[in-house]
Amino acid sequence: MFDNLSDKLDKALHVLKGHGQITEINVAETTKEVRRALLDADVNFKIAKEFTNRVKEKALGQNVLTTLQPGQLMVKIVKDELTELMGGESEGINLSGNPSVILMSGLQGSGKTTFSGKLANFLKTKKSKNPLLVACDVYRPAAIDQLHVVGEQINVPVYSDRENNDPVAIAKAGIAKAKADGNNVVIIDTAGRLAVDEKMMNEISDIHKAINPQETLFVVDSMTGQDAVNTAKAFNDVLNFDGVILTKLDGDTRGGAAISIKSVVNKPIKFIGTGEKMEAIDIFYPSRMADRILGMGDVVSLVERAQEQFDEEEARKIQKKIAKNKFGFDDFLSQIQQIKKMGNMKDLMGMIPGAGKALKGLDIDDDAFKHIEAIIYSMTPDERSNPSKLNASRKKRIAKGSGREVQEVNQLLKQFDQMSKMMKMMQGGGGKKMMQMMSG
Ligand code: GDP
Repeated sequence: MFDNLSDKLDKALHVLKGHGQITEINVAETTKEVRRALLDADVNFKIAKEFTNRVKEKALGQNVLTTLQPGQLMVKIVKDELTELMGGESEGINLSGNPSVILMSGLQGSGKTTFSGKLANFLKTKKSKNPLLVACDVYRPAAIDQLHVVGEQINVPVYSDRENNDPVAIAKAGIAKAKADGNNVVIIDTAGRLAVDEKMMNEISDIHKAINPQETLFVVDSMTGQDAVNTAKAFNDVLNFDGVILTKLDGDTRGGAAISIKSVVNKPIKFIGTGEKMEAIDIFYPSRMADRILGMGDVVSLVERAQEQFDEEEARKIQKKIAKNKFGFDDFLSQIQQIKKMGNMKDLMGMIPGAGKALKGLDIDDDAFKHIEAIIYSMTPDERSNPSKLNASRKKRIAKGSGREVQEVNQLLKQFDQMSKMMKMMQGGGGKKMMQMMSG
């Protein structure tokens, strides 16, 4: 996420690292580089200029009052200003209605339908809501099908009416259906166009007036940079929406949209989309995002994700198995599944402070575990529970079956063996033993 911007800001802030004190000259030099980094990331010129002016003012003003090194001071100021620019505190969504109606708006391809599903899934699993999805795109039958597919994936009902070509009537009927069926949230997915046009704006505006939603969200593809900001402005003029959803932040986004959008429309970014899967949704926290942009990682989010995926029952089962020496490759596989649920590897690594920089240029596979999984899937169930049975001819067969080298199979077995030993030690109150092992 924002690799290029992080890199350039890091270089800009490096200017001050060797300096003992802040001077007008070194601050000017640093802020010039910061501004250039922002412009390269497709941040609006005016915003970038105001931003660096504020940073400069603060840096010169605070110089005498702090014990921080000039480099650290500048990082702190830039971080605070970035946080402020992206929205300060994070804001939730209004779920006070019964049902609460959420209207989705945005261009075609922005990720509206995908996000409607992600939000329904989020509200269902995290907020114990009982949502209904409503398909209001009357132009593209495929869009209705897509919402049904999404609904099935997350087990959330979808209302659509293929005979009706009036989106206002469908939206109203959807809300009536939610009331009848006891759904306390209604998420209305609407039709988008490839670019802003009057007909689309009139239509979304008509739906908005007719249903008076608790929450109107504008979905935008962060890859589109400045265009994202312009589109947001056009939609906001018509809808006066409540919040922005930035999608596709997992891709090669430059960051301009995330940084500029709040100050242009004066509406908070509420969620971000970080992948095509239904779980790839995150609440937007300006300060955590600023940390990530500055390469400071986002440990809080990382720990939260780990906690979300942590399955207590599963952990207890595994502990028992370790104690009985029964930890096998099937358990190993299920551990891998849990890690994978936390997100893609590159994304996770980026949350570790400093790791982003260290890993730059390294090609981290989206599915770093796929070779390991292939090897394990080529084992018989009996071999998975009893790895000691794996003799040379079995290893050869497994290598062939998984399309990997025997060497890799051996390596995995070795790692597995070490891991099993370590887990056993940790469990048996073996902290001391472990320390001995590590120091020896
Ligand atoms: P809509 O036309 O606005 O409803 O857009 P869709 O929901 O159909 O999304 C358009 C494309 O973008 C689809 O291929 C989605 O899988 C993809 N997409 C949506 N959100 C994300 C995201 O956060 N990350 C990535 N990588 N792809 C996304």
